[in-house]
Amino acid sequence: MTHVKIVILGFLPIRLDTAKIKKYKSAYFHINSRIDNLTISNNSDLGWHYSDNNINMMLPDTFDGDVLFVITKVPLEGNYYTRALPKNKVCISLYEISDILNANNIDLENFILRMIYNIVLMRMAFDRCPTIADALEIVHDETRGCIFDMTGIKTEIIYSASKPTICEDCSTILKRKKVPKNIIEDISNELKQIRKGTYYRISDWIKEHPILTIGVSSVAAIILGIFSSYLFELLRPFIMRA
Ligand SMILES: [Zn+2]
Repeated sequence: MTHVKIVILGFLPIRLDTAKIKKYKSAYFHINSRIDNLTISNNSDLGWHYSDNNINMMLPDTFDGDVLFVITKVPLEGNYYTRALPKNKVCISLYEISDILNANNIDLENFILRMIYNIVLMRMAFDRCPTIADALEIVHDETRGCIFDMTGIKTEIIYSASKPTICEDCSTILKRKKVPKNIIEDISNELKQIRKGTYYRISDWIKEHPILTIGVSSVAAIILGIFSSYLFELLRPFIMRA
């Protein structure tokens, strides 16, 4: 079980449902019930971006958990959305990511949970909080909707944030790294909980099947018409008597 301590670094000009994240249940990680807020005291040092060292200087070295999971909105080194930092810390930036997810009606919390699963599995594979070198052993450039997608093209984050999976190649690497097969299967099943909201799933289905939707709506309208006539005939004696 990985104990995850979440902190928010700086101002988040977006709505993040921290209650939803805190109450998320997994057999493989536990999220500390207190999410702390830290202030950004330094200015950016790489143009508008913040270097790993700069971010790390604003974080505590001791915390209540196995991993310090830092969420921020400022752009990170190399414009990556995640950076592994020394002393069991990982920083996730919502810079650009939040706009992409909002435009596609995907909850930010989905992305956060997808990233936590990524760290938890890598921690099992490498017996430590992953370094950048560890991450490069498993992540792949091709986007497959997998939690180990590199997602160099940030807009492709929508695939692994709306329906995250563990692809076959990553599953093979994890098994080679002695992560038990049953745990990989269990986590794959847990990942199925991470989905878009029901309304947006229905809306997506309608967009993907417009003709079928028109057909179903028409049949439903006809059935409703027949049912109304039947109901009227059934109630007619009572209506006439009244
Ligand atoms: Zn993969």
